[in-house]
Order: sequence, then structure tokens, then C-alpha cells
Amino acid sequence: MKRAGIVRINDIVDYIAAYHPDADFDLIRKAYIFSAQVHHGQTRLSGEPYLNHPLSVSMILAEMNLDEYSVSTGLLHDSVEDTHATIEELKEEFGEEIAFLVDGVTKISKLTHKSRIDRQAETFRKMLLAMSKDIRVILIKLADRLHNMRTLEFVSQKKQAAISRETLDIYVPLASRLGIFFIKKELEDLSLRYLNKKVYKEIEEELVVTSEQREKYVKEVIEIIDEKLNLFGIKAIIIGRPKHIYSIYNKMREQNLDFNQIYDITAFRIIVDERKECYEVLGILHSIWKPVPGRFKDYISLPKRNMYQSLHSIVIGPYGQRIEIQIRTKEMDAVAKHGIAAHWKYKEGRKIEQKDDHRFEWLQQIIESQKDMKDYNELLETFRLDLFPNEVYVFTPAGEVIELPKDSTPIDFAYRIHTDVGHKCVGAKVNGNMVSLRYQLKSGDVIEIMTLSNHSPSRDWLNLVKTIRARTKIKQWFKQIDREKNILLGRELCDKGFRKYNLNFTKLIKKSQFHKELKKEGIKSVDDLLEAIGRGTKSYRHILNRFLPKDVQEETTPEDKNKKVIKKQLKKDPSGIKIDGLDDILVRLARCCNPIPGDKIKGYITRGRGVTVHTVNCSFVKDINFSRSIDAKWDDHSKYLAVVTIEVVCEDKKGILANITTAISASEVNILGANVKTSPGSKAVNLFKLEISSLEQLEHIKKEVKKVKGVISVSRYRT
Ligand code: MN
Repeated sequence: MKRAGIVRINDIVDYIAAYHPDADFDLIRKAYIFSAQVHHGQTRLSGEPYLNHPLSVSMILAEMNLDEYSVSTGLLHDSVEDTHATIEELKEEFGEEIAFLVDGVTKISKLTHKSRIDRQAETFRKMLLAMSKDIRVILIKLADRLHNMRTLEFVSQKKQAAISRETLDIYVPLASRLGIFFIKKELEDLSLRYLNKKVYKEIEEELVVTSEQREKYVKEVIEIIDEKLNLFGIKAIIIGRPKHIYSIYNKMREQNLDFNQIYDITAFRIIVDERKECYEVLGILHSIWKPVPGRFKDYISLPKRNMYQSLHSIVIGPYGQRIEIQIRTKEMDAVAKHGIAAHWKYKEGRKIEQKDDHRFEWLQQIIESQKDMKDYNELLETFRLDLFPNEVYVFTPAGEVIELPKDSTPIDFAYRIHTDVGHKCVGAKVNGNMVSLRYQLKSGDVIEIMTLSNHSPSRDWLNLVKTIRARTKIKQWFKQIDREKNILLGRELCDKGFRKYNLNFTKLIKKSQFHKELKKEGIKSVDDLLEAIGRGTKSYRHILNRFLPKDVQEETTPEDKNKKVIKKQLKKDPSGIKIDGLDDILVRLARCCNPIPGDKIKGYITRGRGVTVHTVNCSFVKDINFSRSIDAKWDDHSKYLAVVTIEVVCEDKKGILANITTAISASEVNILGANVKTSPGSKAVNLFKLEISSLEQLEHIKKEVKKVKGVISVSRYRT
């Protein structure tokens, strides 16, 4: 049956006609013809025509009693990945729904579960579900995997093991969760066959050897049950079958038993019409055979998450042998075999009762909307999967799966990998393409983070990140950096302030008297004091005053004090630079880059010489230890005049120099000096030293000078 020979399209059509006589058979035949055309000439590793694979997959989908769209997708599922066919073409030929399903299967087929970490499997399964968007995509993928497992003998041993492992890790639990036990069992057996051939063969042979004896026993048990149930007027179907090889293997392994030591190899299933009869049957069986304590389970009152319902019990049967019994109704039995797929069959009336489980609400919806589902968009909608609406699943370049909240960005991902990767993150590639750090990750993305060793987080990141981890780490970093910075600043202010009164702060803090004074102020350490001063919440005067004679102590309030300092500062230092809200600090402009008002600037906290201000693109700034760098801004009312040299390259012609100076003077700028640097060939290179009040003014002069006839280029000259 399942494995015997080649599946033909008529077999599939006949099979569907039996459970769904109104199906669109033209659609299925059309899909078959299309598939035959695009796969024409392709062969599988076994040497048979490739078409056999999609045909077999479709047959499995028909065995799951799925709709014609799923079955047609089975025929087409490899056409986009392995042939020249495109999604657009499928949309045109077969409509949106099939194109959507094929696209879904193609997308998840591209995901490979590379990681060997066990805990990854669950996340990977969630990712498959999240990416599938429609439950049928997963069902088709399961059918595809089942047929590939059935034909696994043709691939290399290494691949056999890898695929079997993946099947056990990913697809078996999926089939189990969706309750499709006939696929789950076959996948388990096939996986075991390739992962542990010896054990598989041994169990298989044992089953054959013991089959005659077992069948006799099964017959006997069935007769006893049948007779008893007749007595009570209960009609039932009784089946006794050996468990599948994998479950026997599991039992042997878990309990460390030999095959011969396992008595409950046969499972008996009793199928009745009514739910209440299930309990009656149980009562009858427990009255003739002693139940094994602790082995009774009522999955009818408490269905499994995958909606499986049944009564389970183990009893001591004839000859003292343990036998496992499952009792359920026909509907429950259909669910047990087909799981979620069983619900496609149910038309009206019989609704399956189940417990509310928010993760599986969609299942409930499927069942409920079965009643009058004529509109086919509505139908499509009910199959949509949204199991994990608040999560995305992405890969590291090594194939590890990472679960993150929806709308997470590469920064969240970076912090998830490692705190340091987060701090040093400068960019990200998603599926090989550069993206902005604002990019919102999508399930299935492969993320690669680019880092720079001296890079540091930015405060805007706090607006971009979604994870608590990233937010906390960024905040911690800034807290740490701010503290270091404030300590340095506080130190700088104290050094300077104390020096004014001929006190050596460095020596002072080593004395116990200093620490006593701190204690009086309620300050725990020198660093705490410096941090508070650096942050501006405390003035160093508080401490300083304790070391000054009474008559020198200033009685001014901190506010007055600050104003005075600002006035002094403006007189002394006309640069008008604001250092991160601090006024009482010495500011110097760096000579190396010679900033002009308007340039983007950055402060550098020196040791003992206040703050030096550089332009942000000065090479010095790139090497600054982050804790020593500090934000600096020009005061809008700065009266500072910077000395700037511009380099003018021009033709070596008479009179040109005069024209250039005229142009500069017209802009009301002082020329402090001019000289010719070099004159290679017919060009002259002139340097002009100017007094510039702003970047704007400099740009204006450059523009004006460029207008002079014979001028080739004008640029800011840096030594
Ligand atoms: Mn396939």
C-alpha cells in the first residue's frame, strides 16, 4: 500500500473522491500536468523519475484527508525550488492560495537546522510554525519529510544520520504536537532504522519471530473482551496491534530491558460509539483484570494539548501478562490518527469538546468555523497560523536559533549574543545585506553583527531596542561611563579649586582628616564626592570651606557662585564652549585640529589641565578613551575668533594674489598673514592665515575665493 510501488494521479483522485466527492479534481489534475512538465527529465537519487516524489507527497496528504489545495500543493511543492517555475507563474495558473502554500513550503525548506544544541530544537520548531503562517504548510512539509525518509536509503550514510536526527528533533515533535500520530510513528521508526540499524533490525526480527504466539494471545484477549462487552450490550471495535518499533526501543532503553522482558508489546484499542461507553468499558475491564496502579490516564476529561482524547490503562491480563488498553470513540480515534488534519473532515454537528488553551485557540476556531465555511477566503483565514505573534526567530551565522520579541532590532540580537558584541556593534548584515540598526528582524533572518573594538553604545539605542536585556546593558554602560566621567571631571574641578587656595587636593585626600570631613557630609568615598561634583549635584566649595580659615570662606550661595564663575570664564576664555552643562572648568581649544565655532566638537578630560576641545573628526578624538571624552557645544553667543589657515591653489598668473586678497577682505575678515607654500609647474599654492568667527563665515570665504578667476581649489589647511 503506502510503500508499494509508484503512486499514480488516479490513485490520488480516487482516494480524495472517497472522503471529499465535491473536490476540485480539475485543479489537482492541472497541478499534476504542470508538475510533470517542470520536473520533466529530473530524476531522484534512486534513479526513478522525480515526479514520483511529488505524487507520493500528495498521496500522503490525501491520506491525511486534506483539501484539494493542500493535495495540489503537494504536487507542486518542489517546483519553485528545483525548477524554473516561479511563484508568480503559480499564482497565475493556480491562484493565490496555492501560490501562498508553495511559497510557504519553499521558505521553510530553505531553513536547515544546523545546530546540534538540543535546547535549540524547540526554538527551531517554533520558528517553523511562526514562519509557516498556515497550518497546511507544516502538514505539507511533514508529508514531504515522510516521503524523503521513506526513500532515505539512496543518500550517503552521513546524510542519512543527519536527516534522521533532524527528523527526530524537529518533525516528530511537530507531528506529535499536531496530533498526527500515523506520521509521527512512521517518522520515528524510519529515523531509528537509520540511526541505529542494528537495534532496529533486532526488534523487527523479534517481532516476526514472536508474531505467531502473539497473534494467538491477541485473539484470546479480544475474545474475552468481546464476550464481556456483548453481555453489557456495548458494540465496539477491538484491535490488538504491536506497538511501533521506536516505542518498543524506547521502552527497552528507558527501563534497560531486553525485548523478551517487555510484555506489553501489544496495545489493545477499543473503539465505541458514545463517550459514556468509554467509562463503562473501562469499568468492565478493570473488573475482569487487575489494573496496574498509577497507570490509568483519563485524556477524555483532560485532553492533551494536541486534542488527543482517550482512556489509557494497563491491566494484568491472561497468563499474568501486562496489557495496555486504549478506549475511545470513533471521533477520538480519528483525531488520534490524523490530529489536526482530522478536523477537515468534520462537517456539521459533532463538535469536539476541548479545554481552552490559548496557544491552540486557532484549533478551536478551525473546528467552529467548519459549520458554514463557504467563502474560501474565510476558509483560508481560519487556517492561518499565528501561534507566536509576539516573537521572531532568527539565526546566528553559525545556525543557532535565537528567539526575540517582535520588532527586535539587530542591537537586541547583538546584546543577546554577548554584552560586548552589543556595546561594540556598528552595523548588521541580514541575509548577507547591510541593514540599518533600526531594521526590524523577521523570522528566518540570518543576522551577522559587525563590531569595532573601540566603538561604544549610543543613547538613541534605548529607543530602538525591544529586549529588556539590551536596555539594561546599555543603561548600565552609560551609568558606568557617566560615573567614570563625572569622577574625572570632579577631580579636575577640585584640583583647580583647591589650588587657588594653595591647597594640594591630591595630598589632602590621603589625610584622615579629609575622610572625617567627608563622613560629616554623609559621603562614603572620595570617588562618590568627585562623582557628585562632576555631575554638578554638589559644589566642591562645601569641602573646600572646611579647610580654609574662617575669613577666607565665601558666604555666597552656590547659585551666585556659579554666575560669578561664568562671568569670569567669559572674560578669561572667549571660546564660549559649553561642556556638558558645566561652567566651572578650564577649556582649551586643541591646536592639532583648531576648531572653529560651528565645527562639531568633542571635549577631552585631561589630567590637571581641564578640558581640551577637538573637532570630532580630529584623529586624536578617535583614540580617546570613552570615559575621558565629554560632550561639548559652542555657545551661540561666542565671540571667539579662530585663527584658520586656508590653502588656495591657483594658476601662476600676475595679479591673481591681489584678487584673492580683495575677495577675502570683502568678507570683512582679517588676514593675519599670507605666503606661498610651493609652486609646482604652472600652479601656485598660497596659504592665508585668517581670523574666523564661524564655520559659516569660513564656508562663505571659500566660496568667494573660488569665484576668483584662475583659482583651482580652496581648502582649510591643517598642520
Ligand atoms: Mn520535496
